[in-house]
Amino acid sequence: MIEITRAAEPVRTHDLWIEGWRPARSGATFPTYDPATGQVLAHLARGGAEDVNDAVRAATRAGAAWAKVDPNERARLLWKLGELILHHVDELARTEALDTGKPISNARAIDIPRAADTFFYFSGWATKLHGETIPVRGPFFHYTVREPIGVIGAIIPWNFPILLAARKLAPSLAVGNAVVLKPPEEASLSCLRLAELCAEVGLPPGLVSVVTGYGHEAGAALVAHPGVGKIAFTGGTDTGKIVMASAASGLKRLQLELGGKSPNIVLADADVAQAAKAAVSAAFYNQGELCTSGSRLLVDRAIEAEVLAVLTKGTEAMVMGDPLSAQTQIGPLVSAEHRDRVRGYVALGTEEGATLAVGGQALGPGYFVRPAVFTGVRPEARLAQEEVFGPVLSVIPFDGVDEAVRIANSTAFGLAAGVWTRDLGTAHRMIGALRAGTVWVNTYNRFDAASPYGGVGQSGFGRENGAAVLDEVTTRKTVWIAVPE
Ligand code: NDP
Repeated sequence: MIEITRAAEPVRTHDLWIEGWRPARSGATFPTYDPATGQVLAHLARGGAEDVNDAVRAATRAGAAWAKVDPNERARLLWKLGELILHHVDELARTEALDTGKPISNARAIDIPRAADTFFYFSGWATKLHGETIPVRGPFFHYTVREPIGVIGAIIPWNFPILLAARKLAPSLAVGNAVVLKPPEEASLSCLRLAELCAEVGLPPGLVSVVTGYGHEAGAALVAHPGVGKIAFTGGTDTGKIVMASAASGLKRLQLELGGKSPNIVLADADVAQAAKAAVSAAFYNQGELCTSGSRLLVDRAIEAEVLAVLTKGTEAMVMGDPLSAQTQIGPLVSAEHRDRVRGYVALGTEEGATLAVGGQALGPGYFVRPAVFTGVRPEARLAQEEVFGPVLSVIPFDGVDEAVRIANSTAFGLAAGVWTRDLGTAHRMIGALRAGTVWVNTYNRFDAASPYGGVGQSGFGRENGAAVLDEVTTRKTVWIAVPE
């Protein structure tokens, strides 16, 4: 039993944010839960197609004016938004911890400051968006200009709501787009607060809307809406395929940040203690509810025993508790349904013949599961192939670098990979051989607003962050001007 203390607070109902607060047209709401207690945390407006229509209409109007706003002014407002997010770091971190179950210390140190960073970084791009002049055959002055797409539909999951919202909003707004955001049904509160902060800094009404609701209702309506020029989606691979099929009928632009089953590879020459210690946070940071989680730990047989000793000890030492406690390192999983899914994978691991070295127990109240380490997992086992998106680590032994690469590349995903080695040559060969959008060497789970991020294969396509995302949120117009000789 985990000890949770909560002061009694009124359970509020939150409206949609479309040019300000307003209920869903249907008047319907749905509950969202505190994962630490299983109690209702708030009620959210259940947005549907009509609400999405309203939001897109408002975004179209606001976006047309916003695109003409002096880039310096766009930059100033986005910077101010970053400052305002930092100003509210304690409040936002608490909201995120209550709503998602993540430890408040993580939200305070990472989610909220990194969301602010994203606005700081992209505010700079507002004034640096230029085209090219290109020499062509003939008497022509030929150049390109970048233009905003118009209305961007953003759909995000529950594991890092405000941070992922920032990643969608900041570049889109910097270059002159409007955004309609469909936050996750499990954890929408920080996104709603972000919309309020957008208004507070002076972003025009309608430029950013937040339509809470279910994916198959509000989300599907957003993807299908003809007034939306592009969908920026982060979520599961299966949902990504549904989104892609729907976007295809309108030939909508698409960016898909999907699931992963990332290999974290410890070679025989690695600093074993450092690698094994890092493997614990690589697998269990944010309860393993992280798309890049190092959920497959590939270990050279020569050092396996040494790695396992540090790994199991480190895993057992992780402090599981109330997400609002500063000491907590592991909070509850986001929902009862997700907890049951994760527990299903713990049962599957044993059925498939792997050894449960530590963890896997469910605890109440709420949706806690102790971080689980399975050893002797076969690379082709379902546990090693499917994304659990929770605190379940598969340890897979290998013999030598070639086998490590073969196993690492043996899933359908290609989001990220980690390599631990002291040999620079080996590191470079591995970087080339690994099928992944990001490779970390002697570190893991590093992100930066300036660093392009995305996957290959079933992990999706398109890039978020860095200058790379500018191609995703703009179109290039090519101009030919005849210059008589
Ligand atoms: P889902 O794919 O279930 O949901 C993601 C979002 O899509 C939610 O807002 C959801 O709404 C919405 N949605 C669901 N169905 C539809 C639909 N038919 N049309 C439009 N939108 C829809 O993912 P989870 O929320 O369970 O998140 C976990 C997944 O996200 C994992 O696979 C993880 O790997 C991935 N992820 C990827 C990241 C990356 O950058 N590559 C980063 C973080 C997570 P609702 O909330 O109602 O379900």
